[in-house]
Amino acid sequence: MQTPPLPAALQDLAGRVAAVTGGSSGIGLATASLLLARGAAVAINGRDAQRLERAEQTLRARHPGARVLARTCDVLDGAAVQAFAAEVEATLGPVALLVNNAGQGRVSTFADTSDEAWTEELRLKFFSIIHPTRAFLPQLVRQAAALGDAAVVCVNSLLARQPEPHMVATSAARAGVVNLVRSLATEFAPQRVRVNGILVGLIDSGQWRRRFEARADRGQDWDAWSGELARGKHIPLARLGRPDEAAQALVFLASPAASYVTGTHLDVSGGHSRHA
Ligand code: NDP
Repeated sequence: MQTPPLPAALQDLAGRVAAVTGGSSGIGLATASLLLARGAAVAINGRDAQRLERAEQTLRARHPGARVLARTCDVLDGAAVQAFAAEVEATLGPVALLVNNAGQGRVSTFADTSDEAWTEELRLKFFSIIHPTRAFLPQLVRQAAALGDAAVVCVNSLLARQPEPHMVATSAARAGVVNLVRSLATEFAPQRVRVNGILVGLIDSGQWRRRFEARADRGQDWDAWSGELARGKHIPLARLGRPDEAAQALVFLASPAASYVTGTHLDVSGGHSRHA
């Protein structure tokens, strides 16, 4: 049985501008594509110029005539993020939807995580949110006043609630992000800027494809490798999630369909969470 569609007004993002950090791959690219399909203009960034260019071409091919801006920018460089935000506003208009997605996980136990590695990981997880949020906040506040709603959505991980010893620093940082999202949601609520996150489990994207490329058993194909991974992790849906499935949750939280939702995280883990 098909689920009836939401009223068009809630799905329609025409006239809104979105920025997706790390929009050149995986979850970010799928989110940019879904936002364009809903009628938004979309800006993406990433560090690798070639990957970014390929992503821009993909988006333009999928959405002819769409308004897309792609710029190289490291989210850890505060001045570069400020310049990116200014260029997005000048080119596409003020941003009403910010998706803080850029980043990657770090595989290390407590025994093999140096002070430098801890610092790097905490810096990535926090400043990948702090810099874009600070840079785009004036635009978000203005758009919230004009449209009645603006939103920040952060890609977070189930590790925030279910830490893994082999990803000790990432897990601890992710838990801190849950806390940060609540603080930002409370602080920005009077300005009608909502702040939420999603807790992803294992999503088929660049990170997992890179681990697949480095697999010990070279004879295993992706389906066998990822199926074994999902079964080993006891994921009830017995598979990895797709980037577009994470994107659906992000776009829901970013859209007016979630106008009374702020300060929370939506679980997108195929039932993997023991803490729902
Ligand atoms: P991908 O590697 O496919 O995409 C990551 C994106 O982030 C790329 O566009 C990358 O581009 C960009 N990026 C990384 N670091 C920076 C930076 N410092 N500045 C700007 N852009 C950056 O991975 P995913 O789609 O899986 O990852 C998206 C988010 O989801 C990440 O935050 C990740 O930690 C999180 N996540 C993913 C999980 C999964 O199972 N896939 C599980 C838990 C969390 P470039 O390298 O060119 O900069």
